[in-house]
Amino acid sequence: MKIGVSTSVFLDSDKNLSEALEILEKKVKYVELGCDGNMNVMLDNNVEITQSYDLKYTLHCPLTDLNLSSFREKIRKVSLEFVKDILETAVKVDANLIVLHPGYCVFKYDYEKALNSLIKSLKELNNIQDEFNIQITIENMPSYDMFMFRKPDKEIIENLGDLKITFDIGHSFLNKNISDFFKISDKIAHIHIHDNSGEFDEHLPIGKGKINFNYFKKDLKNINAIKMIELQKKSMEDLDLCINNLKELLR
Ligand SMILES: [Zn+2]
Repeated sequence: MKIGVSTSVFLDSDKNLSEALEILEKKVKYVELGCDGNMNVMLDNNVEITQSYDLKYTLHCPLTDLNLSSFREKIRKVSLEFVKDILETAVKVDANLIVLHPGYCVFKYDYEKALNSLIKSLKELNNIQDEFNIQITIENMPSYDMFMFRKPDKEIIENLGDLKITFDIGHSFLNKNISDFFKISDKIAHIHIHDNSGEFDEHLPIGKGKINFNYFKKDLKNINAIKMIELQKKSMEDLDLCINNLKELLR
């Protein structure tokens, strides 16, 4: 049973990375590091800090600034350049894999161009993945119109090459397509676990939203991936509740 917790639960709290890791080390073996705010592993000597804990890591890209689907070639290129910086950090923290967001497109008029740009990025990411020898995964996004990859679009899946998917079950629930993603479970290398009531991307602990986790128990158990709890701004009680519920589910 590979269970982890993302440092996202400490984003915008008064904790620094070492305080966060000290707490998480007592709870789990896997931690997802991030590149934002007070949890930004790319800042100062945070990479060294990660090395003093008995934890295995995955690494999540920054939530802002990157757009791998930009049809503005300069922006797309600089996004890919930044992915290399993330991978350099991933090498230093000995990360199992990195999680990338697919990017976004605000206006319908631009969608086809954005999709073509994303496909181009996926091809280039395959080369970057070979260069760094770290698994790159693309995460399915929540139900806001601007996000790319809200459902398992054929054009995207067919162009993944050797990239894999981070399957975010909370995001997928918002898009009502959990079963669709489990149909392509061979493409899933990492799983984000959180709950919501079907309307907003609340990142709640299991049991405080409306996802019927028991219904998907078998699918979740069958995928050999880290089940990474990704709560946002929640209490340690909520975190413990989620860890316990996940352990119970995967037993
Ligand atoms: Zn994400």
